[in-house]
Amino acid sequence: MGVTWHWTAGWDLERGCSKVLGGANASRKGKASAHFGVGRSFEEGIDRYVTIENRSWHAGANQTLRWDGKPCVMNGVRYSGASTTIGIETVNIGYARKNVKAKEDWILAAPANGKVEYLIQPWTEEQIEMMIALGKHIQERWTHLTWEDHHDHQDLCAGYKTDSIGFPFARVLRGIYNDPSIPDMWSPFLTIEQRQEALIKLGYDLGKWGADGDWGRASDAALRDFQVDKGMVENGMWTTFVSKAVYRALEKKSNA
Ligand SMILES: [Zn+2]
Repeated sequence: MGVTWHWTAGWDLERGCSKVLGGANASRKGKASAHFGVGRSFEEGIDRYVTIENRSWHAGANQTLRWDGKPCVMNGVRYSGASTTIGIETVNIGYARKNVKAKEDWILAAPANGKVEYLIQPWTEEQIEMMIALGKHIQERWTHLTWEDHHDHQDLCAGYKTDSIGFPFARVLRGIYNDPSIPDMWSPFLTIEQRQEALIKLGYDLGKWGADGDWGRASDAALRDFQVDKGMVENGMWTTFVSKAVYRALEKKSNA
């Protein structure tokens, strides 16, 4: 029903991903897997661990939402990511931290809970090209999928997972679907301040604090109000589903 993008939080495909998820002796065999792992260079290439007709255990633990942003459990049915979506690991170290120094081109972005901002390693040009090729390959088999069915791991497990903050959704999806008109609904809302400004523009009250880059109680309440107003799951998490709804609400407002 969808495609879930992940990051490995490692430096390379061989040690950071394939040894863990792929092959007979994978160290997490029986606990975690993915359909594919995409390296950072053509030389690393793409590994397949599970065929796309089969399930891979890539997004099960602590999942709250399903592929379309609706609750993971509905009417007693559990729509786990592991049984409903294709899981793709991309080699990316994740965010700058102790022993991981950011470079100049790293991307400033907040996770779904909006509590902090990280500097994220950008995906490489060769990697983006491979992600597009892989997306087209999946599309050939599961032709009903659209660009709206792509999300990342933290969208399903908001507040628990951080992969893949800052993922280049617009570029990858425009490539997969050969459609340059797919709007970039993600990068306008990467930082806390951008999210606060968007909510203010939509008429939500952030009190005397305004867009101060600090996601406090007023910001949380405003986002929850927005989610309720749009009939979404109210969880205070800025997911891909929220980004799209906010983008469309802003567009509607500017057209009004
Ligand atoms: Zn993940």
